Amino acid sequence: MHPRDLPHIQSLLDLTEIQNLSERYSRGEVVSALRGAIEGLRVQLLAAEIDSLPDFCGSDFQTGLVADIEKTRAASLRRVINATGILIHTNLGRSRLADQAIAAMQAAAAHPNNLELDLTRGKRGSRHTHVEALICELTGAEAAVVVNNCAAAVLLSLMATASGKKVVASRGELIEIGGSFRLPDVIEQSGAILKEVGATNKTRVSDYANGIDDETAVLLKSHTSNFKIVGFTSSPERRDLAKLARDRGVILMEDLGSGVLIDLAPFGLPDEPVVSDILKAGVDLVMFSGDKLLGGPQAGIIAGKSQIIARLKSHPLMRAVRLDKLSIAALEATLRLYRAPYDATREIPVLAMLAQDILEIGARAKRLKAGLFDMANMAADIEQSLAYVGGGTLPEQDLQSVAVAISHKNLSAEKLSAVLRGCSVPVIARIEKGRVVLDMRTVTDADVPLIVEALNEISQG
Ligand SMILES: *Cc1c(COP(=O)(O)O)cnc(C)c1O
Repeated sequence: MHPRDLPHIQSLLDLTEIQNLSERYSRGEVVSALRGAIEGLRVQLLAAEIDSLPDFCGSDFQTGLVADIEKTRAASLRRVINATGILIHTNLGRSRLADQAIAAMQAAAAHPNNLELDLTRGKRGSRHTHVEALICELTGAEAAVVVNNCAAAVLLSLMATASGKKVVASRGELIEIGGSFRLPDVIEQSGAILKEVGATNKTRVSDYANGIDDETAVLLKSHTSNFKIVGFTSSPERRDLAKLARDRGVILMEDLGSGVLIDLAPFGLPDEPVVSDILKAGVDLVMFSGDKLLGGPQAGIIAGKSQIIARLKSHPLMRAVRLDKLSIAALEATLRLYRAPYDATREIPVLAMLAQDILEIGARAKRLKAGLFDMANMAADIEQSLAYVGGGTLPEQDLQSVAVAISHKNLSAEKLSAVLRGCSVPVIARIEKGRVVLDMRTVTDADVPLIVEALNEISQG
């Protein structure tokens, strides 16, 4: 058997069995599935993995074609199971929303709403009103505005306040976060001129002071997010920087990245500054993400002095980076939950995952393992694990967790994890020491039966 003996696509299309497919599928879909099948056979023939061709009129070949076509019809954006142990995983869509936020989003999607209508006066309103008062209440800010994401928040804030002027920033904070967001580049894009001060590990108030001249508009602090400088380090207190900014008539701005609204110390996460404390210390403007530790939709929240916020609201870029109605609905509902911080920690999935008791995580691991019935080819061990917050938040901070480590007699860890990704609900796991590790801190109770089903299928297959 030689690849040249493979049939032409046209002759296959003439077969009655293949023609029957055109009742359900377009010619283009059938042709590309046939091409894929023939190409697969060519590869197998060349590798001498097969020495005869399948029956092109047979039901096996038909079923394979149908499966291929259905696969291409499946949605591209699909639900997956996060078993990585990384709570805020940008590749996996970051935060899951609270039920209240999902409901609000659904209502906003299904019906007309007062997005830009003042219901009392019957006049045109502003989309910002739906969340501004809430943000002010929760952070103590004078005013606030929301945009598409934190990157847009930083860009807009700099454009509106420092275009054509200088921005002073510490050399220790000129970060790159994933997805090509580099602070020096964003500053340049805003039309501002970056003035770097201090050293990588130490920057003093006097460095900032010496960096300010007549053309300076902004002192910019930023959260180092995905890295940490340890050892001989120092950076000034916000209070002292705020005093300097006031004395010299410039704006003190801080890109917080994640940004938290409540104290996370009860979860053993002491280092993350709370937005209200930062504003209280005298920072004029802070920006943070809606879908990191806040646990809401993708958004960039800007809070601070009303005079500056007013400039942002009227800037021409505002329209290009404004938040859509679905995200506004989800953000409003998420922020409302923070009025009762204890409720927030139960209702907002990111916070609930953080607050989870280790016993609860362990119980989930046991349920998963107990559901595996055919362990002839597989081993599953419950073990201690470390989970991480992710999303550029607290890179050093690990969280005690429990995992189920899976190994398969005939499959390497890479192969097994690829098979798990290919499940109808893909399971995204970690590979550690040659085994596939499923961290139970990021897996929900509802995910467990789906993982059990997937593993039982794999062990039998
Ligand atoms: C994550 C992060 C951003 C970008 O936030 P997005 O909401 O993803 O745009 C900006 N700055 C810092 C410090 C961050 O950690």
